[in-house]
Amino acid sequence: MFHKLSNILNDINSVLLPKLCFGCNTLLIRGEEHICTVCRNQLPLTEYTFNAENPVDRIFYGRINISKASAFLFFTDQGIVKNLIHYLKYKNQEQIGYFLGEWYGLTLKNNNYLRDIDYVIPVPLHPKKRRKRGYNQVSLFAKTVAIHLNAQYLENVLIKTANTRTQTNKTRLLRWHNKQALYLLTDHKLLRNKKVLLLDDVITTGATMEACAIALSEAPGIEIYLASMAIVP
Ligand SMILES: [Zn+2]
Repeated sequence: MFHKLSNILNDINSVLLPKLCFGCNTLLIRGEEHICTVCRNQLPLTEYTFNAENPVDRIFYGRINISKASAFLFFTDQGIVKNLIHYLKYKNQEQIGYFLGEWYGLTLKNNNYLRDIDYVIPVPLHPKKRRKRGYNQVSLFAKTVAIHLNAQYLENVLIKTANTRTQTNKTRLLRWHNKQALYLLTDHKLLRNKKVLLLDDVITTGATMEACAIALSEAPGIEIYLASMAIVP
């Protein structure tokens, strides 16, 4: 109840109050949207492409069978990207997903590797958590990227079955067993022999992506690509 009320107040605020930059909280001037020009120019783009090997690929080497991984921005303890993700996840600013998706989608749209992606899939939230937040913070990002890739956005085929965090403090084997139950593929046939791009907000240890990719691998012949809004360097 309290949460819903605070969402409503946020909405009213965003109509009545002048708009601030989600990166640095300065007042936006005419023509600026979501972030100010200074932040826009300072966004730490990784400039990793899907063509060459990059540090995101190296996170997943030997762990899961994926074709390629990448990330749009660097996530640091302080700064623009951290603020953007914070507003997106905790301050009811779903539109940031659209802003990032537009930018990243334009970057990826002419990439040879991603030319024939069939489906773009967001890392799912547990239904309880999604209800509480009001949206999955990756959905709008994924939808927007899908449009640029001429791919279909797919929700509810990969689902989260338990409302727990992905374990990062257990041994690898224990973690693997835990993760088996966390994410589930509901339709194996649909993804059979398909090329899929799985998207998340921030890659830290890679545990969440790994768990999702293991679930997706249940579809025979699936080809998995991973990307995120940001990565902890
Ligand atoms: Zn700014």
